[in-house]
Amino acid sequence: MDFASDNAVGASRPVLDALLAANAGPAPAYGADSWTKAAETRLSEVFETPVAAFLVATGTASNALALGAVCPPWGAVFCHEDAHVIDDECGAPEMATGGAKLVGVAGEGGKLTPDGLAQTLARFPHGLVKQVQAAAISLSQATECGTVYTPAEIAALAAIARAHRCRVHMDGARFANALVHLGCSPAGMTWKAGVDVLSFGLTKNGALACEAVIFFDPALAEAFPYQRKRAGHTLSKGRLLGAQLCAMLDGDHWLANARHANAMAHRLRKGLLAAGARAPWPSEVNEVFAILPRRADAALKAAGSRYYDWGARNLPQHERPGADEVYIRLVASYATTPEEVDRFSAIVRAA
Ligand SMILES: *Cc1c(COP(=O)(O)O)cnc(C)c1O
Repeated sequence: MDFASDNAVGASRPVLDALLAANAGPAPAYGADSWTKAAETRLSEVFETPVAAFLVATGTASNALALGAVCPPWGAVFCHEDAHVIDDECGAPEMATGGAKLVGVAGEGGKLTPDGLAQTLARFPHGLVKQVQAAAISLSQATECGTVYTPAEIAALAAIARAHRCRVHMDGARFANALVHLGCSPAGMTWKAGVDVLSFGLTKNGALACEAVIFFDPALAEAFPYQRKRAGHTLSKGRLLGAQLCAMLDGDHWLANARHANAMAHRLRKGLLAAGARAPWPSEVNEVFAILPRRADAALKAAGSRYYDWGARNLPQHERPGADEVYIRLVASYATTPEEVDRFSAIVRAA
């Protein structure tokens, strides 16, 4: 019963098989191989437009480098105050931009709101020399609360960004989970809604270590080969990234994995609610945020289950845990089984 995160599991079988196949024999280095070329072509097909795609090994590198491509050192990136880019990357975006400022914006359920974004952007007028210049917004899809933006919500935020001459970045560490929840197309959730650059995450969804920075306006990517190389993310044996990406897209493995992870989270949330727990957000993807009695938490831990206690700062006042309760985050993965989900809920019910 490991619900600590969707990166607690290893790589999925088709990815490992693809790695073994790509491993045999020599191939050109630094991404000049046929797997990487195929991956780039496949991404243009998946997104229904010619994209400039660059493979990297971590989500943090993907986010930081993407922001570095759209934000100058004197710029500002506007994101949710709990966004991974501002809270969990040890200043990588600040480093990759050469010192830009990240500005956190409040919003319920991990989501930026048009009003919240517009009010914050209004405090950063262009041309005011004493102030950093608004350059980009960053949206997490899915969000850090397990919620998603609809294409219309993305488009509304992108329109505000445009009005303030900002580019739109999407942190898609859980892109596939959001996509299958919405049932829309990858294009509909990105460039058609105004996204300029996407961090396309695959590691949490079954890859060993593979993410892609995808530019929908290839002109934005002109300096990117140099930026990626300087950051140490141009892999010498680049074919091993290309092979993972192709394996994830083959037969829609990425979508099947995401559907499974989401379904397991929904089953878990349902089980917990039926057992008397509370769950503040709707669990639109593969994460469940739950408020449990301390005795249930103790019973779960005694049974060897793993998950994180979560900060309740962002919960609405009336949802906050009481003195005898805990607030936790549970994440299901492509490898989560119904049995472990049901066992977890049964322990809560019994407690
Ligand atoms: C996991 C995650 C990332 C990427 O993190 P890495 O550990 O660097 O791969 C980025 N954004 C969000 C929202 C995440 O959950």
